[in-house]
Amino acid sequence: MKELKRVLLKLSGEALAENGSYNEAEIKRIAEQVKELYDKGTQICIVIGGGNIWRGRTGIEIDRPKSDSIGMLATLMNCIYVSEFFRYAGMKTAIMTPFVCGNFTELFSKDLANKYFEEGKVLFFAGGTGHPYFTTDTLMSLRAIELNVDMILAAKAIDGVYDKDPKKHPDAVKYDRISIEEVVEKKLGVIDLFASCLLLENKIPMRIFSLTEKDSIRNSLSEQFNGTEVTID
Ligand code: UDP
Repeated sequence: MKELKRVLLKLSGEALAENGSYNEAEIKRIAEQVKELYDKGTQICIVIGGGNIWRGRTGIEIDRPKSDSIGMLATLMNCIYVSEFFRYAGMKTAIMTPFVCGNFTELFSKDLANKYFEEGKVLFFAGGTGHPYFTTDTLMSLRAIELNVDMILAAKAIDGVYDKDPKKHPDAVKYDRISIEEVVEKKLGVIDLFASCLLLENKIPMRIFSLTEKDSIRNSLSEQFNGTEVTID
């Protein structure tokens, strides 16, 4: 595989958690694997979900935009937490948000992101898109496009793209390779449809794999990769 200059890593919020708390050992392993890429000079940006902290409206009637605001703030907490592990592992980091967040994050702009890449920082994109009714998958696609990343590495709670939901259908079949066009046509739900449409239009390749599998980030760019390769041809 050709050397990748810039990648976006999407981490599922769910996969960071264990028994209602952060899985520290898992997050350390993530930091170690990302550090290997970082040491090769690859520019890395990270989007983290929020599903470990907030799974949407439950119990009382809460307005959707309010519920989504909580979700966006959950992604911010995850980014602050995980970025500290990265810093401890020897990487320079910055957290960028689409809204002002006091002095603990910086407002996202493409120019500032590019400047930080040149300075060798791993960039965390927290707070989602800043808009309700979107997901962190949408943010993943948007930032990947804006920053011209060579590849998206989507580390999920599931190990790839299936022809139907494997939780509901035990006979679901996993694809080793599938075009983004087919993902959109068949409305395969591994990432949300809007995020897939953006990737289809803007032709960004993606590898989807399970975050919980040992060494999965390391393997995602090697022969050992065993998730689904989403192609753009
Ligand atoms: N969210 C949002 N706008 C965004 C990104 C996220 O409103 O641009 C909210 C939404 O409620 C979502 C939650 O934040 O459910 C957490 O994000 P996501 O579901 O993508 O996290 P994951 O399930 O991947 O952990």
